[in-house]
Amino acid sequence: MSDNTSGDQIHAIVVGAGLGGCACALALKHHGHSVIIYERLRNFRRLGDSLGLGENALKLLERWGGRDLYNRLTSIGNQAPDMQIRRWHDGKILAVQPLMDMAGYIGHRGDYHTAFLDAVRDAGIEIRMGCEVIDYEDEEGSQPAVILADGSRVLADIIIGADGIKSRARELVLGFADAPKSSGYSCYRAYFPASSQRRENGIGEDTHLVQNTLRNGDEFNWIVTRKLSHEADMEIRESWFQEGDLEDVARVTATVDPRIRAAGKER
Ligand SMILES: Cc1cc2nc3c(=O)[nH]c(=O)nc-3n(C[C@H](O)[C@H](O)[C@H](O)COP(=O)(O)OP(=O)(O)OC[C@H]3O[C@@H](n4cnc5c(N)ncnc54)[C@H](O)[C@@H]3O)c2cc1C
Repeated sequence: MSDNTSGDQIHAIVVGAGLGGCACALALKHHGHSVIIYERLRNFRRLGDSLGLGENALKLLERWGGRDLYNRLTSIGNQAPDMQIRRWHDGKILAVQPLMDMAGYIGHRGDYHTAFLDAVRDAGIEIRMGCEVIDYEDEEGSQPAVILADGSRVLADIIIGADGIKSRARELVLGFADAPKSSGYSCYRAYFPASSQRRENGIGEDTHLVQNTLRNGDEFNWIVTRKLSHEADMEIRESWFQEGDLEDVARVTATVDPRIRAAGKER
């Protein structure tokens, strides 16, 4: 239900139908405003792997998207009752942390995204797919506008850039290109069908391995984070799609618990 009691409806444009853009559009609609989303892609695919939704985020999403959205999001996540923290080289369990309410909140990014998109459409918010915003107009005293790739100009009261990590909108607001900075670590991610519900963390020197199951144990994912060591490493380009080198992964995990290593070798 809308809580816009003043009746001052604004007309908003959201650029980007990712997780941020969908959440923002739901919030605007919930508060009684009109909103339209422009998304440059024609179709979405099930991209990524495990993604955590915090309890605070879920509370807001429930407020904006209702109990149905909340139930769908919490059913997507890993249902393992606890998380095991294991010693790197022999897998000895060092700690078992009950996950309690957090159990349901790590799920597949693509499944969460589909739930967000469905909630947006159920709320009657239009997503214009295949519409790339190529420029913004923001002159003092006139209404802001977006310019689309087909040359059309669309006015709004407010324009929200939710255009992801390589955001053009962020650059305009900040006045400079906010390029990603290296943390000194890189990350290998692997993802394949599985057979049981698990969530485990293996901690070693400068290396950290997380194993997690998704879709009620049907899928399994590995995230291996390791410290970058030499110059060639530092030049690794930032991307969600860059293929990893399996021999490199084998080297990084050479001293890990053999049972964990075997899971990686099977695939
Ligand atoms: C492919 C991929 C896989 C990921 N996998 C994981 C994961 O496994 N685990 C995890 O924790 N996090 C993952 N992330 C990161 C996480 O999803 C992001 O932090 C989160 O999606 C950020 O949300 P966002 O809405 O800001 O950006 P995004 O979800 O990236 O959405 C931005 C949207 O804006 C659109 N867009 C961009 N420019 C324009 C434009 N000019 N005009 C119109 N539309 C535009 C894009 O097509 C995109 O749909 C992944 C991100 C990506 C892109």
